[in-house]
Amino acid sequence: EGTAAANFLRPIVQADLDSGKHGKIVTRFPPEPNGYLHIGHAKSICLNFGLAQEFGGECNLRFDDTNPAKEDQEYIDAIENDVKWLGFQWAGEPHYASDYFDQLHDWAVELIKAGKAFVCDLSPEQAREYRGSLTEPGKNSPFRDRSVEENLDLFARMRAGEFPDGTRSLRAKIDMSSPNMNLRDPILYRIRHAHHHQTGDKWCIYPSYDFTHGQSDAIEGITHSICTLEFEDHRPLYEWFLDNLPVPCKPRQYEFSRLNLNYTITSKRKLKQLVDEGHVAGWDDPRMSTLSGYRRRGYTPESIRNFCEMIGVNRASGVVDIGMLEFAIRDHLDATAPRAMCVLKPLKVVITNYPEGKVEQLELPRHPKQDMGVRMLPFSRELYIDAGDFEENPPAGYKRLVPGGEVRLRGSYVIRADEAIKDEAGNVVELRCSYDENTLGKNPEGRKVKGVIHWVPAEGSIECEVRLYDRLFRSPNPEKAEEGGSFLDNINPESLLVLKGCRAEPSLAQAQPEDRFQFEREGYFCADLKDSKPGAPVFNRTVTLRDSWGG
Ligand code: ATP
Ligand code: MG
Ligand code: MG
Repeated sequence: EGTAAANFLRPIVQADLDSGKHGKIVTRFPPEPNGYLHIGHAKSICLNFGLAQEFGGECNLRFDDTNPAKEDQEYIDAIENDVKWLGFQWAGEPHYASDYFDQLHDWAVELIKAGKAFVCDLSPEQAREYRGSLTEPGKNSPFRDRSVEENLDLFARMRAGEFPDGTRSLRAKIDMSSPNMNLRDPILYRIRHAHHHQTGDKWCIYPSYDFTHGQSDAIEGITHSICTLEFEDHRPLYEWFLDNLPVPCKPRQYEFSRLNLNYTITSKRKLKQLVDEGHVAGWDDPRMSTLSGYRRRGYTPESIRNFCEMIGVNRASGVVDIGMLEFAIRDHLDATAPRAMCVLKPLKVVITNYPEGKVEQLELPRHPKQDMGVRMLPFSRELYIDAGDFEENPPAGYKRLVPGGEVRLRGSYVIRADEAIKDEAGNVVELRCSYDENTLGKNPEGRKVKGVIHWVPAEGSIECEVRLYDRLFRSPNPEKAEEGGSFLDNINPESLLVLKGCRAEPSLAQAQPEDRFQFEREGYFCADLKDSKPGAPVFNRTVTLRDSWGG
């Protein structure tokens, strides 16, 4: 069991409820639909939906869709799916920031009328120059003192489509000398002649993130607007809009530190690049740090929620070790995944002293601790073990099968290797063994047999494909590239090993897509969501049994 770390927002919410500031809390999860959700988003989802759940409130799903060129319905659908898969349900229908475009436009007009916004004709490059820097104050735009009438007229013509992209913007009139760059007359509207997935061609001006976010929160009655620390410096602007507009309520913004996970990319832009350039098979490739990737890899929603609980919520920067995420999935699968045997590199074994035609049905528990019933395993003269479990020249301490040595077949008899049959190249292609008929469920007389190996019957086992996944990046900080390189240079060339001709025990024949198992001695595996079919299963390795990295 992982222990939960602190979440500094819990006491804040509790105090707001105790004091009566809020009768009920309302949070929101506001993804931009420009990619699939990743493990970093899971932290935000668990936080926002989790607080609402814990304190009897509500959490909205809001698509932050102010950037139509990069957004797509595919992403909207995927985001809804992933949030539900993680185990959360938003209040009512999903919301869209674009639902509020009319209201936002009217509020922009009000700011113009109040002399608090102006149309600026500076090009983006010029505007950058006028903005100054952290060490130098900015300069007022030469268009800052336009009359209200002229601003209203120009803004109406911006909206009507009279001007090309980037030629004008609507800006708030705040303070070009503020030490906070966000307050240096920030942009409220840009011209973008772009089709929008929700509003079609209705608009050719689009509001900025800053002008959209807080007001959308206010319209939805959000009480606690929780975002990552990069937005801390935006908070004064968030509040400026709420103070200067007739909004229905004043949400409060809180910031927490984003999740950084070693060996892992958490940037939609880079994840998209991995997909677009074919480094992975898609957004849901089991090596991706997307929620749909983890799902296909075999992660459970519980394990990801537990992981988020374990890492806690605070304002300290840091990098979480991927070992914690792997611990979370091992921990959950250890408790819940039925056991089975699958031989990845089959080596045929003939039990020469076992009667021809005889079959015994062995009964093995599906789980060592939980009551999950049993599975049947036929034992007869021919079976498969893993080629790696026999060594002619064993290293010291080798506990598996050696010439003349004995080993126990899991849940079955003790066998002895009598003869190794080889092909012309000298490879072992078959073992002749004998079994001790007095060793089923008991130790042999007068000697100790230490090794236990897994096996499957030759008859009744099924051929399958097994995909051994490993970390996609070999460097703990994949974003950091060598001089002149990119994060792509840190891709682990051995992140996927496809094994065909593996053999799974008969009980796995009917595995349904997404069924999860522990393959004894091999790791945790899951029947692939897309490619696995009952009768012809494909198994993805979710995680090894133990941490095999870093010695
Ligand atoms: P990306 O950089 O991957 O595009 P983003 O923050 O731009 O991420 P959004 O779609 O805007 O992506 O994110 C939705 C919510 O998820 C935001 O509230 C954001 O703060 C949160 N979020 C995104 N990445 C992380 C992360 N690594 N850790 C915690 N929260 C995150
Ligand atoms: Mg964002
Ligand atoms: Mg982004």
